Amino acid sequence: MATAPLRSAQGRPLFRRWGRLALDLLFPPRCAVCGAMGAFLCPACLSSMPGALPPRCPVCWRPGRFTPACESCREQPPAFRALRAPYLMAGAARDAVHALKYSHFSALAEDMGRLMAEFAASSDPSGLSPSGRSLDADLAVPVPLHGRRRRSRGYNQSALLARAVGGALGLPVNEGALVRRRDGPRQARAASAEERRRNVEGAFLGRGGLDGSRVLLIDDVTTTGATLDACARALREAGTSSVCCLAFARED
Ligand SMILES: [Zn+2]
Ligand SMILES: [Zn+2]
Repeated sequence: MATAPLRSAQGRPLFRRWGRLALDLLFPPRCAVCGAMGAFLCPACLSSMPGALPPRCPVCWRPGRFTPACESCREQPPAFRALRAPYLMAGAARDAVHALKYSHFSALAEDMGRLMAEFAASSDPSGLSPSGRSLDADLAVPVPLHGRRRRSRGYNQSALLARAVGGALGLPVNEGALVRRRDGPRQARAASAEERRRNVEGAFLGRGGLDGSRVLLIDDVTTTGATLDACARALREAGTSSVCCLAFARED
């Protein structure tokens, strides 16, 4: 008979907390943005992160005043119900995203994921729930990397964020719900929304076993939402009843 791992009052397995404590003593945490000792994101950098503030499209989070949605969402409705990101891809928020993605600063994911979870769980302005009050999701799913890219980096930064978000919100994480069939070209900064859409069209495949589930799809950064839309489409084709998207930062 399987026994549950020993858990602390906070529900986190005790060995993980002790392991983290031992690691912190050996390698005290340093701020990934400014290098200050004490935390992976120091209070000063945390408070300087630019928020992706409303007014924004209630569907795709594009800045502007739109009711019920922006022109693009009305003409080509995305496969997700709503997309949200607490921060703009600028300043300390961009530094944190880059540290997680390119500098192997994977310990940062826990703090970033917690910030995303707090934003998603806040009644306003997350808007991820139709009721506008609480989060409607049964599981968290990360945007997958292509196998080759994941192997070269050693981890998928979105999967680390999904684990942290799932842990904070009490949602199970299904890292195998989506697979990336091909590695598209890197999205160039200047690429148009239409080019971005074409680059990721059909790039993802949803696995079975998702019937009727409500998915919270997790990524680190979003620009036009094209990747999240392609992922949401694959998840919907695999039988999920709804998809909401949560990214750490948005490129406005
Ligand atoms: Zn700092
Ligand atoms: Zn929109």
